[in-house]
Amino acid sequence: MMTSGSAPQLSLDPDDRLLIIGAGLAGYHTARGARLNGHQGQITILGAEHRLAYDRPALSKAYLTGAVSEDDLALDDPDQPLDAQWVPGADVIALSAVPLGVHTLTGEFWAADAVVIATGAGARTLPQTNPDDEVARPYLLRSMDDAAALRATCLQGLGVAVVGGGFLALEAAATCTQRGAESVTVIAGEQHPGATRLGTPVGRALRSVHEAHGVRFASAARAVSVTSTTAGHTVHLADGSAVAADVAILACGAVPATGWLQGGPLHLSPAGAVLCDDFGATGIAGVWAAGDCAEWASQSKGLRPVGHWQEALEQAAVVAAHLTGAEPQPMQEPYFWSDQYDLRLQGAGRIAAADEVRVLEGSAETGDLLISYLRGGTEVGILGFNRLREVKRWRKQHQIRKAQTVAA
Ligand SMILES: Cc1cc2nc3c(=O)[nH]c(=O)nc-3n(C[C@H](O)[C@H](O)[C@H](O)COP(=O)(O)OP(=O)(O)OC[C@H]3O[C@@H](n4cnc5c(N)ncnc54)[C@H](O)[C@@H]3O)c2cc1C
Repeated sequence: MMTSGSAPQLSLDPDDRLLIIGAGLAGYHTARGARLNGHQGQITILGAEHRLAYDRPALSKAYLTGAVSEDDLALDDPDQPLDAQWVPGADVIALSAVPLGVHTLTGEFWAADAVVIATGAGARTLPQTNPDDEVARPYLLRSMDDAAALRATCLQGLGVAVVGGGFLALEAAATCTQRGAESVTVIAGEQHPGATRLGTPVGRALRSVHEAHGVRFASAARAVSVTSTTAGHTVHLADGSAVAADVAILACGAVPATGWLQGGPLHLSPAGAVLCDDFGATGIAGVWAAGDCAEWASQSKGLRPVGHWQEALEQAAVVAAHLTGAEPQPMQEPYFWSDQYDLRLQGAGRIAAADEVRVLEGSAETGDLLISYLRGGTEVGILGFNRLREVKRWRKQHQIRKAQTVAA
């Protein structure tokens, strides 16, 4: 693998063929960035799904409640369509370093001068029993097809079990409640969802927001498997208890979509992510990776998060810049958000690195919590419940500071 210290060689001559694997956020923005930077050669995007690139965050929020449509989530701008060859329904199964290119399930070989791997992540699941064709499977929430299936299900009067304690699970719980489910039970694996990652005050506040909307939390035991029958689903927990529901949603994490790279020339992390330096270079000449399928050096060191929208977007811009010889923008402080009911939660900075969590203002009851994260007494991050102004100001100040540091 390449070291993270020095910028890699440019990969593209002006007429070279750029091949992008994965028609998602990172894939789309790598292509868009390369064109904006003046690349004139062919750009081809191979995507496993049978649709063009779309934005995922609304799939567990406004799309599920019906507030936005599939068309609203399209990434490409119809007024200024991306100049690229889109190949939907192309399932890539192997990478070849020499000659450089990829093989698809249908037996084609796509040759390239540079390959960008942007295959994202797939949903983590649980062992399932009895999922034959007669029996409804638990829903997942990763792709438009997953979300469309859940959106098409009438939840009125039904009991829903949501497995997972991250934002995806909590957003799903909120939308099911808003859509008239009779009961919603969250199986989060910790007493206060998100407390381990974001601190107990945040976990407590999130739980109390959901409980105020009637959501129940199962015991803090981990879900270990699901049994599905025509009568419904039973989620089995590690402490021997179980939760029965008419509808089950598995939102218990993501795994890099890199099964197709196993046994190939790239270095993968134990979790399966493509290991890269902080320019997205993989160490194989002409092969780059960005987004949820990748783990850049600063992410391996715990300095930046994985699996966030902003990381994928910024990594795509960095890769596009290095491919085309443009000056890459320094990456911003990490940032994420989540929408649950009328709550917008936003976090910025290096929250995972904090050794102290301090409540600055507000409370869960008033829905306006403001939290500071410190390391060695210095503030490294911020999180707000409906604190748009404060989080924006914090991000702006840190962006200016960072630009000054880079310039100095
Ligand atoms: C429901 C949901 C809600 C989210 N909400 C938020 C949020 O509120 N805030 C936030 O910060 N982040 C959120 N995220 C995370 C954010 O959307 C991701 O970080 C982002 O989409 C990652 O972009 P990506 O391009 O790496 O992967 P993706 O957008 O997942 O795109 C990868 C594409 O590659 C394709 N692919 C996979 N394998 C192959 C293959 N072998 N051959 C060809 N194509 C392949 C996939 O089908 C997919 O289309 C959410 C994610 C989901 C699923």
